[in-house]
Amino acid sequence: MTATGWHSSEAELRDEIVRVCHLMWQKGLVAASDGNVSARLGDNRLLATPSGVSKGFLAAADLVLLDLDGTPLVQAQDGTSRAKPSSEILLHLEVYRQRPDVRAVVHAHPPLALAFTIAGIRLPECMLPEVVINLGEIPTTAYATPSSAEGPRAIRELICGHDALILDRHGSVTVGCTPFEAYMKLEKVEHLAKVALVARQLGRVSELPQEEVAKLIAMRRTALGLSPEYNGEACVHCGACGKAAETHSSEGEGIVSDELRRTIVESVVQELARRAS
Ligand SMILES: [Zn+2]
Repeated sequence: MTATGWHSSEAELRDEIVRVCHLMWQKGLVAASDGNVSARLGDNRLLATPSGVSKGFLAAADLVLLDLDGTPLVQAQDGTSRAKPSSEILLHLEVYRQRPDVRAVVHAHPPLALAFTIAGIRLPECMLPEVVINLGEIPTTAYATPSSAEGPRAIRELICGHDALILDRHGSVTVGCTPFEAYMKLEKVEHLAKVALVARQLGRVSELPQEEVAKLIAMRRTALGLSPEYNGEACVHCGACGKAAETHSSEGEGIVSDELRRTIVESVVQELARRAS
């Protein structure tokens, strides 16, 4: 590639990373200087967001050029510490080691998805058809101290088979062919958490029927060109994939059974009637 062409693609990639960072901040998916974005630049280099900069005010020139071990290749032009990549670059490096197909990684702290981990409630992936088709299962990793070597260990196995992970008490990791694709998966995770939260507040979370999940997984298989043996990461909990480990009612999610709900409603009605008499 010509020098001009190479610079042109690097410039485009920088602009896309910056656009993603601004969106993350505007949509409240990160706070303060949280979160980080990286992308492969060719085969052996990465562009990554620097340490300690709000994603809402990031500029293309702020991005750090790294090798695949995370070593900065170019000093910051202004000589400031902004040349340092985020300490959470370890998560990104682990993704690139495990997933040669991945070109971009987005790490964010989406508040609702994060709150689900603090409440000890898994995200119900089988609730929304688009989530089953686009993301499949969204596992939650074990807790790891942020910025430590525990982080890469916690995602190492799970990232091999999933494009979106929730980090216990920390945030999310989403991956894609471009920064924007990885960002859209982040949006989808937080949207799922938002809908699940409201559904729980309104009543109960009802997941898709198993046969519908099976259909959606077949669509996912076709869309991604996966082998016929692929039976979907999406439904370990609902059982449609045949990997059933748990049923909805056994998960202790605080979902009130219809019978218990009737009992509670009858008790409240009786109490109101007693007070009114
Ligand atoms: Zn983080």
